[in-house]
Amino acid sequence: MNYKELADLIFPNVKGAEYYENKYPERDLPEGAIVTRFAPSPTGFVHIGGLYQALVARIMANKTRGVFFLRIEDTDQKREIENGVTDIVNSLKEFGMEPDEGMISDTEEIGNYGPYKQSLRKDIYQSYAKYLLEQGKAYPSFETSEELEEMRKKQEAAKVRTGYYGVWAKYRNLSLDEMVEKIKAGIPYIIRFKSPGREDKKIKHKDIIKGNVDFPENDQDIVIIKSDGLPTYHFAHAVDDHLMRTTHVIRSDEWLSSVPLHIQLFQELGFKLPKYAHISPIMKNDNGNKRKLSKRKDPEAAVSYYEELGIPSIAVKEYLLNIANSTFENWRRQNPDKQIEEFDFQLNKMSVSGALFDMVKLQDVSKIVISRYTAEQVYDEALEWAKKHDEELRGMLEENKEYTLKVLNIERGNKKPRKDIAKWEDLKENIEYMYDNIFENNPQKYEYQTISDKDKINEILDLYINEYYNENDDKDTWFNKIKELAGRLGYAKEVKEFKQNPEAYPGHVGDVSTVLRIALTGRTNTPDMYEIMKVIGKNSIIKRFEIDKKN
Ligand code: GLU
Repeated sequence: MNYKELADLIFPNVKGAEYYENKYPERDLPEGAIVTRFAPSPTGFVHIGGLYQALVARIMANKTRGVFFLRIEDTDQKREIENGVTDIVNSLKEFGMEPDEGMISDTEEIGNYGPYKQSLRKDIYQSYAKYLLEQGKAYPSFETSEELEEMRKKQEAAKVRTGYYGVWAKYRNLSLDEMVEKIKAGIPYIIRFKSPGREDKKIKHKDIIKGNVDFPENDQDIVIIKSDGLPTYHFAHAVDDHLMRTTHVIRSDEWLSSVPLHIQLFQELGFKLPKYAHISPIMKNDNGNKRKLSKRKDPEAAVSYYEELGIPSIAVKEYLLNIANSTFENWRRQNPDKQIEEFDFQLNKMSVSGALFDMVKLQDVSKIVISRYTAEQVYDEALEWAKKHDEELRGMLEENKEYTLKVLNIERGNKKPRKDIAKWEDLKENIEYMYDNIFENNPQKYEYQTISDKDKINEILDLYINEYYNENDDKDTWFNKIKELAGRLGYAKEVKEFKQNPEAYPGHVGDVSTVLRIALTGRTNTPDMYEIMKVIGKNSIIKRFEIDKKN
């Protein structure tokens, strides 16, 4: 009996490593092009941290004219959730980060390096496990879960490292004959890697993000093929990223401590080691404590949350870039009209300790993003969102598109566009007073301010509409007329005048404007009132003043 025969006994029918080496040749890519991937497990909702990693990988591939692919890591079939793959595929699509290769739906894929779903790659993993077995670098291991449990207890009692290594690795040193005998007797087994490492030796790793790190060598005989015939994460990582010709493994830093094992696996399999970039988790400031965004506690951990609020995906992306590279914000300020793809993203400039995620900041970014939209863009995206989440808004938008576009165009498309919309969820509240039918049914929202005397208010409204308002006035004329009206009623025509001599006046032009604004909109704070009057028009102004006078 030799290793070759043992390997044949265990995996008699696989195609073999050589077959796959030939099937997936080195990629023919331009100089400097890198191959990155997003490799999620379909075990829960898409996490913002996952999207963040995918974004970085997507950008690095774009930047170098390389390849970004999507691989589904579904070897833990017990933890799989319904629609897991579809959700991942759709999230990437929604954020404009479609992969060049890989899964494009639950069942379809594109690219020459597939299958891109690990559960469909059984023969591949087993071929490489066989390759290791043939060289005595892997072995069948027959322990039961009770045995493992007992071992762990002994290790804990003896205060030594837990795991399957050294003297604890009970089945590592069985003779070939013993192994064969057990297999033939039908005793269940898994395949373990025979680690050549020693814990008292150190290895160095240079991570693109984390820099130089030292680790003890791996000495654990980890499981590579489980009892269901599928690989563990570690083994699949080595085999897949080798065969898919990944050049840069960009992944969560929870895997950093597994690097010694991965280096060893690549070595023993005879693969070239890819470069690693371990991304720190996205953190949150929780009452002064910095902690990881939690799947359980934080709604903002789920990518779907942003869609529900109606934060445009492009804004989420911009914000993620903001926290990924601190130079992005400045670049954006200097290049407000460029596509984010033009930003020179630096993988090695990413935070080592974990970037802070801040919902308020995200919404500020979103406000700026939306302020750059045309009215049509706002209309289209908001309507899309409203169809799913807000029937009332949908009605408002659809009832009179032309009018709505005028509403949305207020303070838009100029040098200082309005920045009051962060998410489509806010839009209704933001524009509803512009619709006569809604306005009429809504009682006054805000109290009058400095000028609150009913007769005074009515006097202002009457005089204004009868003697000062002219729908053809330009903005300066319009405002001068409000000043004149203020002066006529004894208010200061300029705020400055008022401030110099506050005793002399009951108020100033701003207070008169406020009366008009509240009568027209029910609010103290609105975009430009001149534009509002233009959009709602004279009839509506008269109607609104009348309503106000009645109240
Ligand atoms: N399936 C692994 C995870 O979701 C992927 C890690 C990797 O990118 O290699 O954590």
